[in-house]
Amino acid sequence: MKIYWDIDGVLRDLSGTLPKKVQGQLDYSENVSKESWHNGGKLLKKYLTPRSILKAKSLPYIKAAKYFAFDHPLRILSCQNKKWIEPTVKWLYNHLDFANGIDINFVKANEDKISLIEKEKGFLIDDYPFFKDYSRVIVVDYAYNRKVVGEFARVKSIGQLKRVLISAEKT
Ligand SMILES: [Mg+2]
Repeated sequence: MKIYWDIDGVLRDLSGTLPKKVQGQLDYSENVSKESWHNGGKLLKKYLTPRSILKAKSLPYIKAAKYFAFDHPLRILSCQNKKWIEPTVKWLYNHLDFANGIDINFVKANEDKISLIEKEKGFLIDDYPFFKDYSRVIVVDYAYNRKVVGEFARVKSIGQLKRVLISAEKT
């Protein structure tokens, strides 16, 4: 079973690197629209630098990834701005141990992630609120993705994510 990990919102706190004033302009509410999400992305683009990306803190779910990496290759599936790829790869190597191998995939559009996991019959751990199909997505719970329907699972803690990964392996 191939499990793919999104980076931002799952492993890394990218928006936490922004000045507080800018963070306040990001719409992370339950009622977030595609448009306001997109505007948030523009703000990130404006303020982030390779240096700040490299300095971004990890999120608690990274512990589940480390646990999973004990006996699995870690597959990363992320939609990143071109300029962010290099510092992001560095960030991954700084924060994770890939004893069992690593497979880093960058895609151009969010929907490309869904095409890839469908093709691979894999699962994706992600926080993005606007995919068309969530049947192979393990949603990391945030207010902004509570309107998602049809997800494979929704997790609210590291323990829950570990349990879901174990059950996904059996499918
Ligand atoms: Mg994300």
